Amino acid sequence: MFEIFQNPYAKELAEKYRPIWALHKSMALLGWDLETYMPKLGAEERGFADAQLELMLQEKITSPDFLSLLDKLERSEGLNDYEKGLARVLRRDTKVYTKLPPAFVQQLASITNRASVTWREARRASDFSKFKPDLEKIVGLMREMANYLGYEDHPYNALLDLHEEGITVKDLDAMFSVLAPSLKKTLDRIVSDGYFTRRSKLEEERYKDDDMKAAEWDILRRLGYDESRFRVDISPHPFTTSIGLNDVRITTRRKGYDFKDTLFSILHEGGHALYELQIDPALAYTPLARGVSSGVHESQSRFMENMIARTREFVEGALPLLSSHLDFLKRYDPEEVFVYFAHVSPSPIRVEADEVTYNFHILLRYELEKELMANEIKVDDLPELWNEEMEKYLGIRPKNDAEGVLQDIHWSGGLGGFPAYTIGNVIAAQARYHAMIDVKDLYGKVSRLELDEVKSWLREKIHRWGATYSPKELLNKSFGEGLDPSYLTSYIEQKYR
Ligand code: MG
Repeated sequence: MFEIFQNPYAKELAEKYRPIWALHKSMALLGWDLETYMPKLGAEERGFADAQLELMLQEKITSPDFLSLLDKLERSEGLNDYEKGLARVLRRDTKVYTKLPPAFVQQLASITNRASVTWREARRASDFSKFKPDLEKIVGLMREMANYLGYEDHPYNALLDLHEEGITVKDLDAMFSVLAPSLKKTLDRIVSDGYFTRRSKLEEERYKDDDMKAAEWDILRRLGYDESRFRVDISPHPFTTSIGLNDVRITTRRKGYDFKDTLFSILHEGGHALYELQIDPALAYTPLARGVSSGVHESQSRFMENMIARTREFVEGALPLLSSHLDFLKRYDPEEVFVYFAHVSPSPIRVEADEVTYNFHILLRYELEKELMANEIKVDDLPELWNEEMEKYLGIRPKNDAEGVLQDIHWSGGLGGFPAYTIGNVIAAQARYHAMIDVKDLYGKVSRLELDEVKSWLREKIHRWGATYSPKELLNKSFGEGLDPSYLTSYIEQKYR
């Protein structure tokens, strides 16, 4: 076991990590169950079980023995890439426990717990003032946290690094300064042209649950998803979780009409799942056996969802399968289905946004979070600033707080998570460009639903390494370049020409 490690400290750390791995995976399974099958009244005891497991995990990962082995590994010379990765990942895993005082962690946990409830109430009443006091406390705690964790240049960098290793305000400012003007230009053209903004009648076509499920599985099997390592269940908010390299689970929701909603959530989560399923088995039971960051993970879901499936070629390949289960599709031609898949329309709601408008929703949140952290704006001003920005970028003004500043649950848990979504879109387009060079006739193959070659390509370039390399190292190693938003802007421009 652990043949990837030669250094004695690395071997010993990997050995000591095994119970920690088991705790992580048990918590993942409990989390999956909570979202899918747990009876409602199980919540309280489940919360208790979770907190106990979290304590056990914390105790193991911060034990003096474990930390001193990590110190020794970091000081060792001549480490191989896996050993360097092990040291890097474990240092990051232990950072929050060793740098944040326990009293602070407790305070943050109790306020964020309460805030998730007050956020729900505020959103129901569409009244920001109900959420404001808790959000003010959370922003204050986020600034404190940045100080504990340490940062250069901007306090927001401390939070960003927790979500997206090595990414800074400077990187994001550079990224958005390329994305925003170009996407805005394309969006204006799409809106004035009207071809992709028209509503398709397919949005109203109703389906039976069993028919949709059969259609989804037909597609999934053709794309190579194997039921002996992968499953699909139902939850209100679709997600992916890995219980092990051979037990990866996704969820979807089915509302009975507008079938692309469930189809694309399946393909999106399917992209996340593929990343986990294609991690090198040699990394099993180590902290390297996971996706390296939320941004790189999101790139894999967006690659499958947008670059592969939201295309004319995919429609060509998938339509016969889909219409053998969904009768109404026999009345539509492939171009109509493609326009339905690739629909673009400025909407105030992020989770309903399309490929073109999505990044503006993230830019808006990023700017507000950054300014909150730098103390340049006040929580009090958020609803108005939100609406102004929305008008500036998308030309629409939310009707109320529920449709505006209160739409996402994220801020009830802290700040810093949103930029990963756009980083994911950027890397997905970057991967597409390189895949089209390396995989001969990529889109011809997509039109026949033959994904074996592109899946192997993704495995070699990204998946197999798990968290061995940091996101920036991985991009450099695989594509010979850093994060480059110009691939996304030219892809969008061409697609919606
Ligand atoms: Mg995702």
